Parts: sequence; C-alpha cells; structure tokens
Amino acid sequence: METTLTGQTFKNYINNEWVNSNSEKTIKSINPANTEEVVGYVQSSTNEDLNKAVEAAHNAKKSWRKAGQAARGQYLYKAANILEENLDEVAETMTREMGKTLPEAKGETARGVAILRYYAAEGMRKEGDVIPSTDKDALMFTKKTPLGVVGVITPWNFPVAIPIWKMAPALVYGNTIVFKPATEGAVTAAKVVECFTKAGLPEGVLNFVTGSGSIVGQSLIDHEKVNAITFTGSETVGSNVAKSSAARGIKFQLEMGGKNPVIVAADADIDKAVEAVISGGLRSTGQKCTASSRVIVEEEIYEEFKEKLIDAVQKITIGDGLQEGVWMGPCASESQFNTVKEYVEKGRAEGASLLYGGEELTDEARAKGFYITPAIFEEVTNDMAIAREEIFGPVIALFKAESLEQAIEAANDTKYGLSASIFTSNITSLLEFVDEIEAGLVRVNAESAGVELQAPFGGMKGSSSGSREQGEAAKEFFTETKTVFVKGV
Ligand code: NAP
Ligand code: MG
Repeated sequence: METTLTGQTFKNYINNEWVNSNSEKTIKSINPANTEEVVGYVQSSTNEDLNKAVEAAHNAKKSWRKAGQAARGQYLYKAANILEENLDEVAETMTREMGKTLPEAKGETARGVAILRYYAAEGMRKEGDVIPSTDKDALMFTKKTPLGVVGVITPWNFPVAIPIWKMAPALVYGNTIVFKPATEGAVTAAKVVECFTKAGLPEGVLNFVTGSGSIVGQSLIDHEKVNAITFTGSETVGSNVAKSSAARGIKFQLEMGGKNPVIVAADADIDKAVEAVISGGLRSTGQKCTASSRVIVEEEIYEEFKEKLIDAVQKITIGDGLQEGVWMGPCASESQFNTVKEYVEKGRAEGASLLYGGEELTDEARAKGFYITPAIFEEVTNDMAIAREEIFGPVIALFKAESLEQAIEAANDTKYGLSASIFTSNITSLLEFVDEIEAGLVRVNAESAGVELQAPFGGMKGSSSGSREQGEAAKEFFTETKTVFVKGV
C-alpha cells in the first residue's frame, strides 16, 4: 500500500479520484492506547462533497447494473486478494485507531477477506427462480434487480468487517455505493476502500466520504438520489435513518444496540460458562454489539460461578493492543471511556454492589490511554440503568435466578434482542430457551458474541429493523424482485 501509518492525511474517494474536501479541514484520529499518537487525518467533508459522491454513484448506476453479476464478482475476488496481502497493515491500523488487540484485529481483517470471497462467489449463483405458470404456454420467472445507490453508514467497533459485509453484497448485486464510515474508524475504513479501488472498480461505483455524522451522514440519509440505506450504529441515529427513509419510501436496514444476556443454568459446565462470559463480555473491551452484559445465574451455583468469574477477570492483562500478551486494550475513545466511568458510578449510586474493577489505570505505561479494569456488579435489579441501557464497555451485571423460567423472563425483560446465550447440559432447558428467548442470535453453550458470515445476522425488538445481514439474507435487502411472465407470439 502507498500509505504509511502515522499522521498521514486520507482523502475522500469520489468518481475514482482521491480528493480533498472543499472545507479544507481535516479531523484528527488518535490512538486510544496513547493519545499523543496521531493515527491519521481524515477529511471533514461538507454537504457539497457528499452531493458530488451521490451524483457519481447515481451516474454509475446503469452501467454497473448492466455489467452483470458474474463480472461484478470478479472485482470482489481481486479486492479480497489485495486485502489479504495487506492484512497486517490494515489490522495494525485498526489496533492503533480503536484499540482492539492485534490478534482480534487480524481475525477481523481475515473475516473481511472471507466475506469478500463469499460474495465474489455469488457472482456465479442464481439470480432468480422459474415458477410454473397456470398458462402452459408461458414462462414465468423471478429476476433480482439492484436498488440503485446505497448509502452505507457504519460504526467504529468493527471498522473492517461491518463495511465489508455491507459493501460486498451491495456491489455484487449491482448497487453503487456512497460509504460514510464512523469518524473514530475512518482511517481504517480508508484502508479498506483502498483495497476496493485497487481492484479496479469502474468510475463512481464506490465513493467514500468522511466527516461528521450530523453533517454528511444526515445529508446521505436525506438525499433524494439515494435509493437505500444500510446502517449499523446507535438507536438514536438509527431512528433518524428510519424516519427519513420511510418518508422517502426507500428501503432501509438498521442494526443497533444490545443488552445481551447469558443464562447459566444449575446444570451448566461452570468453567466453560466463565470462559464464555469473559470472552463474550470483555473482548474488544466490551465494545461489541453482541457482547454479554447481563449474566443470569441459577442460585444453586451462583456463589461458585461468581468466585470463578472474579478469579478469571483478575488475570486479564490490560494494555496497548499492539503488545504481545495483552488481552484487553483501552476503550476506543475518550467518550467511550467517560461513558463507562459514568455507568460504574451510576451502578454504585443505584445500589448495585461493585464486586470488582471499574478503576481507571493511570500507572506510567497506561497513563496516556483510556484504560479501565473490567467492572463486575452484583445485586443488580432490572430497573437499574446498568441492567437496562447499553453501556458498550467492559461492565458485567450478575443476577440470581430461582429457576430457568425466571431466568428466561429476566433475559427477555429488555427493549433489545440481538444475541443471547445459555449454558446448560439439559436438552429440555436448551429447547425451551431456543423457543422462548427474544433474540436474533441464539447461542447454546457458546458465548453471546459470535458471528458466522454465511449465516443471517441481526436482532429482534429494538436491536434491528427486522431485516438481516450477511449470508443469503443480504440478497433480500440489496435487491428487489421482478416477477416476469413471458408468452410467445
Ligand atoms: P453511532 O454514533 O450511531 O454512529 C454510527 C454511524 O452513524 C457513524 O458513522 C456516525 O458518524 C453516523 N452518524 C452519526 N450521526 C448521524 C446522523 N445524524 N445521520 C446519519 N449518520 C450519523 O454509533 P457508534 O457509536 O459508531 O457505534 C456504537 C453503536 O453501534 C452501539 O449502539 C452498538 O451496539 C452498535 N452496533 C451494532 C451492531 C449490530 O450489528 N447490531 C454492530 C456494531 C455496533 P460519526 O462517527 O461521524 O458520528
Ligand atoms: Mg481513535
């Protein structure tokens, strides 16, 4: 790649050219492990920049649709190879920009490569079905057609995988794109876009505009030439996307927050459950939409589970994610850091008992980063903020349940419904859980955070607009169906 790691300025990409914003202003991206390090600068774009990008995508719409699915797939194979060649550099940029550990960042980038290959292969898969007509002389079939210009708006917590799981299917099914990444992950996003551009996409097919969500993000969702929006992020912004899209009658897709429960039944393998709560709750510093944040334990095993959990959490090594042996990095930004500290305070003030952690780390090695120890609360009631609101940080609330039924009821007592998991060795309990739990991702004897690219991904209730991403589900969102009836003359 042409880019270097520190302090470089990244441009917007519009109509196959890297261009500066007409604002002549940039936004600084800093390393949350060491706030003195500038990872890069991105364009602070204006509505005018955004309009140019939408215009370019609009003008490219017809020829990209006509290029054909098989040809479009070939570009994705190339992008996959380029990303794979640059995996180490992209992953390192991600760690520097948002703090997740290097092994996690490498894993995510490798997933990006796999997603590209999965959708590249879609180029050779079917575009519709033949359906028998009641008229024996007619041919009836369906044909998938693209939506047009798709606005892609993404969060900072998976700055490689989420943009790719949106853009790869959007492209292969024939849509053109205007991509507005989260500002906190925009340098990493620029590196992903570089891989696509080097694959040789035609002019205007993929456009990239960075800048404030409330300026360029809002203009993108309101633009009359944008035909669909795919959004992952917070509920506040998501509801804006829904309102604007509904008013214009365009398709939209929202994936938002979670308050994901883990049930540990009395018959569970306690050691495995502890391991899964640590991994599912605290990897990526708890900043996954599928992170476990409520752990509901049957009372017979509560004390044993708690002791083992506290023992395990104490062993977590916290530091700069680039360093070997570090298991948990800093919070991704100052605002995340402050949010976590505020919720730890709120938990205490509301009467929950802080069993462990929630302390800022200010020793010499960590004084310049947003470091905090994972917080474990008990005696949490379901009306407390730490039980109801998404914190998006390393904070776990423990609950005691008298029965499995009560545990499931507590698990469902939330506006969210993204992922949920249970640890049990009883088949009746697991079947009951699968049936009753209100979550789009249901995990049995596995951590709540786990996604496979070939399967549908998305939440129920307030976590999603009800549509699904990834796997075959992406085709449903990124296309419309034409039902064609043909009769000879
Ligand atoms: P966010 O604040 O909602 O931002 C998401 C994106 O929307 C960013 O690109 C942001 O740009 C942009 N944006 C902000 N205001 C906007 C507006 N008025 N109009 C249009 N776009 C706007 O969320 P975040 O803090 O980046 O991400 C954390 C959230 O994402 C959490 O709630 C988490 O649960 C959720 N998440 C969900 C999933 C899932 O699949 N369900 C996956 C990952 C994360 P700026 O960065 O410039 O503000
Ligand atoms: Mg940063």
